[in-house]
Amino acid sequence: MECIFCKIVKGEIPSKKVNENEKFLAFHDINPIAPIHILIIPKEHYEKFDNTPNEIFNEMASFIKDTAKKLGISDYRLITNNGKGAGQEVFHLHIHMVANPNGTLKWPKLV
Ligand code: AMP
Repeated sequence: MECIFCKIVKGEIPSKKVNENEKFLAFHDINPIAPIHILIIPKEHYEKFDNTPNEIFNEMASFIKDTAKKLGISDYRLITNNGKGAGQEVFHLHIHMVANPNGTLKWPKLV
C-alpha cells in the first residue's frame, strides 16, 4: 500500500497546504499539538531522517524558513521523529513545525 504522505503529494488525499514548490510540501497536521502545527516533507519518498540524503536538507532548510515567513512566525520548534522508538508513525520523512504565536512553547515530558 502506498504511503499516506505520497498520496497527499499526489493530491489523492486532501491536505491544507501552506507552502509548496517543486520538491517540498508543507501542510497542516491533522491532529495539531500546538496552535500552529505544520508538517514539512520532501515530495520524494524517504522513510525517515536516517535514510534521507544529506543534500536534501540544504534546500529543505530554505523551504522551512520560507514556510515560517509565509505563516508570519519567527519563533517555532522543529521536530523529526526518527524511527518507531522515537514516536514515528508515518514512514515518509517529515519535519514537524510547531509554534504558539501568542505565547511560548513548553518543553514536554517525553517519557
Ligand atoms: P510522526 O509520529 O512523527 O510520524 O507524525 C505523523 C504525523 O502525521 C502526526 O502528527 C499525525 O497527526 C499526522 N498525520 C497523519 N495523517 C495525516 C493526514 N492525512 N494529514 C495531515 N497530517 C496527518
